Amino acid sequence: MTLPVSLEFFPPKTPEGVAKLAAARQELYALEPEFCSVTYGAGGSTQDGTLQTVQAILAEGRVGVPHFSCVGATRETIAARLDQYKAQGIDRVVALRGDLPSGFGGMGEFRYASELIAFIREHSGRHFKVAVAAYPETHPQARSPQADLLAFAIKVREGADMAITQMLFNADAYFRFVDEVQKLGLEIPIVPGIMPITNSSGLMRFADNCGCDIPRWIRLRLQSFGDDNKAIRTFGEEVIASLCERLVAGGAPALHFYTMNQSAPTMAAAKAFAQ
Ligand code: FAD
Repeated sequence: MTLPVSLEFFPPKTPEGVAKLAAARQELYALEPEFCSVTYGAGGSTQDGTLQTVQAILAEGRVGVPHFSCVGATRETIAARLDQYKAQGIDRVVALRGDLPSGFGGMGEFRYASELIAFIREHSGRHFKVAVAAYPETHPQARSPQADLLAFAIKVREGADMAITQMLFNADAYFRFVDEVQKLGLEIPIVPGIMPITNSSGLMRFADNCGCDIPRWIRLRLQSFGDDNKAIRTFGEEVIASLCERLVAGGAPALHFYTMNQSAPTMAAAKAFAQ
């Protein structure tokens, strides 16, 4: 495969989940991923699981990349975690603000991801390759699309090396965002985030929460399948395959798959554009 792909996992919570993810990773390594990233629970819920999963990936001879959020953290705790990552042989991170779980105390010492990136550069120099989040359809808390674009530009100017987008089903939003970033004179690879479609109501709920638009024609068809998971998966594979083809044909530099710790849906999507 010539187009680079990266894979995202979440830290499993049970020994069965750990074993299932290890098996899924072995299948997905056939895609020769550039890196495998592991999500991080803002506020402490999965942070040790993130590191354990990254260590497992590193032990398999692959590039393991922890997601890393700053909400609720202090400069001291972030510095300690950066030093720990460096000592473990980690040289890439996905740097995020994150969202505070409800009931969790204050924001901490960092207001935005841009402040985290500035701190990473101040504390660790260029040791880490830093990826950041991008929102072609606008982050749900942003004052406006323009304000969100400018907030993204600050992350790039503070030293981000690449960006991964929120999951999207709308290639035009991605192309427009890339154009707007280029018009600001910023040069940074922006990799579209692809969520394979494996279920209906969970996906729609998640999309609504994170500000991702699922086009009406996709929503209506997914709803019409009811509990017919096979029909959902078949339709989902077609939709995601053509989305990937369009993104790649339009110049996406790579694809980042939100695997949801499963191999088959990502393999199906990747096969479609590898042919
Ligand atoms: P920021 O870039 O700081 O933006 C947050 C908001 O603040 C935006 O609305 C922005 O417009 C605004 N803003 C930024 N700077 C300024 C400024 N200077 N002035 C005014 N407004 C400003 N969450 C997790 O908890 N764990 C994960 O592992 C995780 N992984 C993710 C991976 C990807 C690829 C993506 C796209 C998202 C991920 N998230 C994760 C979700 C993310 O934490 C949330 O979307 C969060 O709300 C924003 O994080 P951010 O880093 O994009 O924040």
